[in-house]
Amino acid sequence: MEPYKVKVVERLPLLDRPGREAALERAGYNLFNLTSDEVTIDLLTDSGTSAMSDRQWGGLMVGDESYAGSRNFAHFERVVRDLTGFSHVIPAHQGRAAEHLLLSQLVHPGQIVPNNMHFDTTRAHVVHAGGRPMDLAIREAYDPTSLHPFKGNVDVARLETLLAAEGARRVPLVMVTITNNTGGGQPVSVANLREVAAVSHRHGVPVYLDMCRWAENAYFVREREAEFADRSIREIGRTVFDLVDGATMSAKKDGLVNIGGFVVTRDVELANRIKEQLILFEGFPTYGGLARRDLEAMAIGLEEATDLDYLRHRIGQVRYLASLLSAAGVPLVEPTGGHGVYLDAHRFLPHVPPEQFPGQSIVVELYREGGVRTVEIGEVFRGEKANDDPTAPELSLVRMAIPRRVYSSSHLAHVARTVIAVWNRRATVRGLLMLEAPERLRHFTARFGPAPPAEAVTAPVAKLATGRP
Ligand SMILES: *Cc1c(COP(=O)(O)O)cnc(C)c1O
Repeated sequence: MEPYKVKVVERLPLLDRPGREAALERAGYNLFNLTSDEVTIDLLTDSGTSAMSDRQWGGLMVGDESYAGSRNFAHFERVVRDLTGFSHVIPAHQGRAAEHLLLSQLVHPGQIVPNNMHFDTTRAHVVHAGGRPMDLAIREAYDPTSLHPFKGNVDVARLETLLAAEGARRVPLVMVTITNNTGGGQPVSVANLREVAAVSHRHGVPVYLDMCRWAENAYFVREREAEFADRSIREIGRTVFDLVDGATMSAKKDGLVNIGGFVVTRDVELANRIKEQLILFEGFPTYGGLARRDLEAMAIGLEEATDLDYLRHRIGQVRYLASLLSAAGVPLVEPTGGHGVYLDAHRFLPHVPPEQFPGQSIVVELYREGGVRTVEIGEVFRGEKANDDPTAPELSLVRMAIPRRVYSSSHLAHVARTVIAVWNRRATVRGLLMLEAPERLRHFTARFGPAPPAEAVTAPVAKLATGRP
């Protein structure tokens, strides 16, 4: 059961089927174009969509909005130092701002940045700094049916080969994303992080974590690595942080806030350079682009996210949804990750070819069926860009991200009924044609229309549909 009770409620929009049909048409079958009052259950993202606790809302009321030296910053800094052990704590308005601050200082043109898998904003900031992102996740990360317990792990042999060939001059840092969002919220083991740190440090290369979901990662470590079975989330966190040199954080995930983030490091000289940048782009180092009350809410949320009862329920909710779907035979990415359930679109709609966007077709049907908003991570999302790892297969997924502390089990049961209803009529689900394909970030703005029945599809139409030359 939920380890919290309700104090404030927000009405859910409940549209009838004709209302949803009309909304789909107006949105060009792209759910980014829906307004929130057209969505009943919103599983678009778990980022910044958490419900704050009564303690966090109380924290907003004790905001000390001093430009410099706010007591909320002092509290925030103390909490982050205590949780992570890093001496330098630099606030930022969200994760990508933290990435910008760190990567623009460390990465120079032509350099390579390895990661298990870069999240899109991380990749974009490596590229923005002139660097080349390189994904080095283990093979199992690309196999939706592999039951490997730590599918977020880095392939240490390939990392070693890269570092031996390129050295610290060409590789300014190694990043590891915990949990691996792009790969389905899969955890990274402490054993793997130990190896990554040892190899990187032997080559004189620092290791930074993308620690957005560090508490969820620690929960998996506690469950799956015998050495940590009796340890607290905080103890596991410290074990992890002690191995590395710093981290970037989007507190919109395991900070349980709607906005906020930070960079941490042990390197005083780097911290000073980042603070200079911070003043230029974000704000003074004791607020970093945030209201001081937001720092207070973040300080409280970061600690609440380490509560084992909270995490057991959080990860339990994700598993509950997955178990309802698995029981009905719906093809999922397994094992279930920390922040959402991912449908495997190619196995869900084998009759819809990749150029007719099977993932997006499922996304549209889930909304039509039950007012549930999800997101495609497949042919639409990737667009023309290939994997950073050209030898990896191209997955086509539908992500159902679960916001933290927002939905109840009965909401998730509604989601499961919706998915299962679409699964049961999957043979009748048709693909989509991309009618408007913008050059960049097309998943946000592309417009689609229903594809004609299979026999009517001619070669030129299929070509138009992919948006590729
Ligand atoms: C969300 C996220 C980011 C970026 O954070 P924002 O707060 O959205 O800017 C970076 N890395 C990972 C793994 C994320 O999930």
